[in-house]
Amino acid sequence: MNRDPYSTLGVSASAGQDEIRQAYRKLAKKYHPDANPGDGKAEERFKEVQEAYDILGDPEKRRRYDEAGKYGGPFFHQGGRETVFEGGFGGLDDILGGIFGGAFGGKPRPGRAVIDLAVPFAVAARGGTVETSADIPEECRVCGGTGGSGRETCTPCGGSGRVNSGHGLFSTSHACRNCGGRGYTLRDVCGVCQGSGRTASRQRVTVTVPPGVEDGSVLRVPVGGVNVQASVRVIPDRFFRREGRDIHCDVSITAPQATLGTRIMVRTLDGKVRLKIPEGTQPGTVIRIRGKGAVRHGVRGDQLVHVKVRIPVGLSPGERELWETLRKTGG
Ligand SMILES: [Zn+2]
Ligand SMILES: [Zn+2]
Repeated sequence: MNRDPYSTLGVSASAGQDEIRQAYRKLAKKYHPDANPGDGKAEERFKEVQEAYDILGDPEKRRRYDEAGKYGGPFFHQGGRETVFEGGFGGLDDILGGIFGGAFGGKPRPGRAVIDLAVPFAVAARGGTVETSADIPEECRVCGGTGGSGRETCTPCGGSGRVNSGHGLFSTSHACRNCGGRGYTLRDVCGVCQGSGRTASRQRVTVTVPPGVEDGSVLRVPVGGVNVQASVRVIPDRFFRREGRDIHCDVSITAPQATLGTRIMVRTLDGKVRLKIPEGTQPGTVIRIRGKGAVRHGVRGDQLVHVKVRIPVGLSPGERELWETLRKTGG
């Protein structure tokens, strides 16, 4: 460590853990060896960023660093670099674990990426496609997915990745600590993928959204041999609200329009339609426009128009006279 971890991550000494995590995430992506093939400087920066986050990302280590006052303090002399790296690339695992489902570190699993998918209201209601991008796990290009060289069967677990403790009926099995559950050890661990054999690359993804999808649903999207899980967040609409397959909206009309009846234009998912407001429509009346709702299980719902009546304020003398007349006639 030859730089202050705060300046490496470009954050202030008072930065919160969220801010530190975000700064780390951004820099780790920017300097990731996959994004900068053959660029030694980027790789060096990538390592610095990892080291800085290894300290600042862990509140306890950060406290110890802060107490040491400045780098070069007792914290770094205590076992030097190895101490800093204690726990390996825990930080990276934390961050990318969510994306890879734990493919980094620990036991390698088939890649599984999770993305947040913002879906426009109308697309969620009627179905369609949404373009997005996702970090897709792929075989590490540096080690070809082997995770490193000098592969040897792990002795404590005999290659099974699990060890038993206790005996007889009470014996339990847990992941082998020596190999992290992989069943083998590597003499030279690949510096790019940290032995997992997998890295990530950002890819464009077109997600087909089925009609009637709800906020919080998870869609499975196959991308190059990997199943991306897209967690749906429906972008709220200022005018429409959805309840199941029905869509609700509010329209406001004037008191004379409600009294005498009128025709107004109302927005639907398919564009504007003319809606008849009958004579004597009461505030709170709900008018149903059939077949303009969301599609669910192949059936399209309706649009329900909630009518609000605007009572005039700030009357002109002439208007006041008219309302006075209405009052006298009992209207
Ligand atoms: Zn590798
Ligand atoms: Zn083992």
